[in-house]
Amino acid sequence: MNAILISIGDELVLGQTIDTNSAWLSQQLAAIGCGVLEHITIPDDQSQIERAITNSISRCQIILITGGLGPTADDLTRQAIAAALGTPLVLNEPWLDNMKQFFARRKRPMPQTNSIQAMIPTGARIIWNNHGTAAGIDADPVSPLFPSPSASFGTMGEGEGLSSVPQKPATSQPCRLFAVPGVPKEMKGMFADYILPILRPLSSGAVILSSTLHTYSLGESAIAELLGDLMDRTRNPSVGTTVSGGVVSLRINARFSTLQEAQRQLAATVEQCRHRLRSLIYGQDDQTLASVVADLLLHPPTHFGPGPLIVATAESCTGGLLAKMLTDIPGSSAYFHQGWITYSNDAKIKMLSVDSQLLAAHGAVSEPVVAAMAQSARQNAAAHFALAISGIAGPTGGTPEKPVGTVCIALASGTSTEASTHLFPGDREVIRDRSAKTALNLLRLQLLKLH
Ligand code: ATP
Ligand code: MG
Repeated sequence: MNAILISIGDELVLGQTIDTNSAWLSQQLAAIGCGVLEHITIPDDQSQIERAITNSISRCQIILITGGLGPTADDLTRQAIAAALGTPLVLNEPWLDNMKQFFARRKRPMPQTNSIQAMIPTGARIIWNNHGTAAGIDADPVSPLFPSPSASFGTMGEGEGLSSVPQKPATSQPCRLFAVPGVPKEMKGMFADYILPILRPLSSGAVILSSTLHTYSLGESAIAELLGDLMDRTRNPSVGTTVSGGVVSLRINARFSTLQEAQRQLAATVEQCRHRLRSLIYGQDDQTLASVVADLLLHPPTHFGPGPLIVATAESCTGGLLAKMLTDIPGSSAYFHQGWITYSNDAKIKMLSVDSQLLAAHGAVSEPVVAAMAQSARQNAAAHFALAISGIAGPTGGTPEKPVGTVCIALASGTSTEASTHLFPGDREVIRDRSAKTALNLLRLQLLKLH
């Protein structure tokens, strides 16, 4: 079984919205063994939509359209489907009633323009939408090359009348078309509730399951060297790497004929990667450095005492970015109570009692100063740990001794304070981002030692 995905919307073609629908749908289809032949992205233009549908009918078994089912003049998907199918639109009374109730519940009159959303091509079935007024469409298009009266999966809907078209050769595959709204939440719900149960029993191809492991601190080639033969191009499951925001991620794809085998093989390769990279791997799939640190702080080993561990921050060049990352996680108040942004030397002296002589002797970007900042922050906040960052984010302020990108980071705990100096390449934004992430990673490694 294979599919073509058609995403519709001016905003997609203009680059204002990224087509996340096709990415999500491709993953869902891969997991049930349905290959995706193409992603087609087109604007809200009826003739282009029509052409995309007619061109796809003879080339795949499933056409999955998202977008353009709204009530406004720029929503033309239903008209284009009707034209491509060569059937007029008809009123679907149950959906019209449902829309009227939808507006009645909100104590608003239904605008006349919404009634177009109850029109579907003759012979097609409605896909119920529990989150909005745009119903989906489930239709059986007929290939212009090999038309067939029974070119459909499943049962034929009420009023279907395509018997006047010539027969499709027995060897050609029937095609089924699904159209759902572009709103990601509505699209996902309708795919899971309606489309997936239809497609799953039809799947016969290889199942592709994927997982991603994230590492921080080493570059892509160093990670590849450690992975060695696991990255062999002919290997299944395959292991590939991508880099984004300083994070090197391992993308593992398992392609097998059954779901069970794919699950088993994927888990085995994930384990092998973990074994080779150990603590270089900080997380899997949706996990971030901050979410992993949060988890470790919230669940310390029992011998460490009850309750979450507390971390405080003292930041200079990152201007609160580290505190932001720590508090991006819901429930962060359990492990983060306060932080300091001490951008000037004066602030470091006044708020964190950093010795002015220390600043004069070593400069604000130095290991002794970040160590002092971390120790004070830990004490003032009565925290288990404190992280301090001071660096030169640029573009100005660098010297031959301390060029732009020089960043000192310290981690203070109850027993010791460790400070280190880093040189991050990149612009101001990148340097600040890597500084905060490196600090989080230092804390993560320290917390792992407790376990
Ligand atoms: P309807 O949902 O009524 O069928 P539509 O999907 O075209 O029509 P819009 O108002 O154009 O409705 O889009 C709704 C929201 O969904 C917008 O924020 C749009 O950017 C988003 N959206 C549409 N298509 C996609 C897509 N392929 N990927 C991600 N977001 C999308
Ligand atoms: Mg749209």
